[in-house]
Amino acid sequence: MRTGITHLAIPGPTNVPEAVRQAMNVPMQDMRAPDFGDLTIGLFSDLRRVFKTANGTVILYPGSGTAAWEAAMMNTLNPGDRVLMCRKGQFSMLWARMAEQLGLEVELVDVPWGAGTPVSEFARILGNDAEGRIKAVFVTHNETATGVTSDVAAIRAVMDDVYHEALLFVDGVSSIASIDFRMDEWRVDLAVTGSQKGLMLPAGLGILAVSEKAMAASRRATLPRAYFRFEDMTAVNGDGYFPYTPPTQLFHGLRKSLDRLFEEGLENVFARHRRLAEGVRRAVHAWGYDLVAEHCKIYSDTVSAIRVPPEVDARDVIRGAYVNYNTSLGTGLGPLAGKVFRIGHLGDLNEVMCLAAISAAEMALVDAGATIDLGSGVAAAQCWYRESRQVRQVALAAE
Ligand SMILES: *Cc1c(COP(=O)(O)O)cnc(C)c1O
Repeated sequence: MRTGITHLAIPGPTNVPEAVRQAMNVPMQDMRAPDFGDLTIGLFSDLRRVFKTANGTVILYPGSGTAAWEAAMMNTLNPGDRVLMCRKGQFSMLWARMAEQLGLEVELVDVPWGAGTPVSEFARILGNDAEGRIKAVFVTHNETATGVTSDVAAIRAVMDDVYHEALLFVDGVSSIASIDFRMDEWRVDLAVTGSQKGLMLPAGLGILAVSEKAMAASRRATLPRAYFRFEDMTAVNGDGYFPYTPPTQLFHGLRKSLDRLFEEGLENVFARHRRLAEGVRRAVHAWGYDLVAEHCKIYSDTVSAIRVPPEVDARDVIRGAYVNYNTSLGTGLGPLAGKVFRIGHLGDLNEVMCLAAISAAEMALVDAGATIDLGSGVAAAQCWYRESRQVRQVALAAE
């Protein structure tokens, strides 16, 4: 029998705040009631604030992030369209596979797992495409498999440099609402997220923000689509309604999670993620281990993928942490299986929750044959959390 809390230190689903769980515990309601829009209309405008877009259209699909990936492509592209994608981890790889399955012609750039989207290679390819054969450029903002955050603004800049008019698609499933994302400033055309990561909800919503340019493309695009048709949504969303039964409980939860995000302040949310992530990274470095991310400039603030030494099987660490210490760590995906475990540090989280994950990882590592000193990572993170909190208190006192 398990007693106490089972700790969730994976990069999604993330911890759902108690207040959000409570907010979802409501009776079923009539999705065609005259006052249904009182609940839903504000969700669209508040999600625009999260995406940082003034005029983008937010669409909420019952589904997960993967559904929103598909909706983005089906609605705006044509069979055989050439698209530029980079494979740099499990999620970018799966998005590229989906594009192929949908009949797109994918120009693939493969980089080592641990690298970011290669800006100069994208610049070269787009520069050689003066006739505009490439219709869309895809960026996985935060590659959750490797803990790497890519520079979307830099990709936008290289597109602008060569006057490229492709649509810019961004997978922000593990970044939006946790790492700064600026749809309008970066002129992102299709931004994708899901409910179960930074938005601190159960899985069940695939969320899209669509630029005016992408909306216009959707009116001409010819890939087949049915359930995910933008027009069916936009025709009724303005009045707060949906073309098919929406997940009303999730909307109540979303209302609460958005309230919490704005109460903390989005910029403070991003700073908190950075600070908590830094503690995890200091622990990893105290163990003498490396992150999968190749350079500190691309470290993700929502997930750390940690390489274990060759004598340790990371699967034993993950299994041991769960079985013996009630802690779920993230697995090494694809070719990283056995070599890597991940600590998710996004969503509703604080210092001690990170310390718990680090502590469980330490015990499970030693059990699995690692030679680290128990407490070394915890101590490094503790020092950082104390030190950085003092800095924050000084800043508060000076206000
Ligand atoms: C989790 C995740 C997805 C997949 O989302 P689902 O909600 O599981 O369908 C896609 N991309 C990234 C970067 C993710 O982290």
